[in-house]
Amino acid sequence: MQHAYLYRLFMWFFILLIGSAQLMADDSYQQKRDQLMTLIEKDIVDNSDFLDNNRLSEQVVIAMRAVPRHEFVPQKHRHQAYKNRPLPIGYGQTISQPTIVAMMTDLLQLKATDSVLEVGTGSGYQAAVLAEITRNVYSIEVVTELAERAAKDLKRTGYDYVKTRTGDGYYGWKEAAPFDAIIVTAAASHIPPPLIKQLKVGGRMIIPVGNQFMLQHLVLVTKDAADNVKIRQILPVKFVPLIGKH
Ligand code: SAM
Repeated sequence: MQHAYLYRLFMWFFILLIGSAQLMADDSYQQKRDQLMTLIEKDIVDNSDFLDNNRLSEQVVIAMRAVPRHEFVPQKHRHQAYKNRPLPIGYGQTISQPTIVAMMTDLLQLKATDSVLEVGTGSGYQAAVLAEITRNVYSIEVVTELAERAAKDLKRTGYDYVKTRTGDGYYGWKEAAPFDAIIVTAAASHIPPPLIKQLKVGGRMIIPVGNQFMLQHLVLVTKDAADNVKIRQILPVKFVPLIGKH
């Protein structure tokens, strides 16, 4: 009788211990994300001349503070997850620098009902940030292993409503088009015509354009009712190249 009581007491103590360790870990990650957010907001101010803006929208700040970047980083780099820098994710690819993720997301000016296509799922982190703002996120990745891992990580972290697929994002995602917004997270030599076609009138596309070894620029593309595109160069960047047979 007494054994059973002691056993139950021990179990309760054990559960409480695990629970509070988990809470402490969550807290420390939240603290790290808040510190990272301070660095990002400073970067935005430092680049305000390029951005024509000196602050991120509230929805982007909330999204960046919410997404557990450490869950999208390979185990061996997890201790660096809240450094404001890109990190390797395998297969010669990277998870983008948090400042760039915040900037690109902000430039899309997403609404909660918008449908958005991401080209270059990579780790799944950018897709999760988008998914904090809208539930209509489509993300395509050319490296099968990355696409499969990102899909699993998105599911595991609660972003199971993000639609993912393996394929060459140069050609977009025809069945889900048109999109209110498109974000390309690898540098293209030119703006892919299929993506312009899949952008809604009044829609916004953000894409790094340029050569892998030379200067690249983040470019904001908007489309009007006559299918004319307007292009605004935002700032110089460094991205891995958009690969594929195109
Ligand atoms: N958005 C990613 C994240 O949050 O981790 C980072 C993307 S990484 C800078 C660029 C990604 O684009 C890589 O995973 C790469 O394999 C992918 N990529 C390159 N060319 C592609 C293409 N034609 N179609 C789809 N994905 C492509």
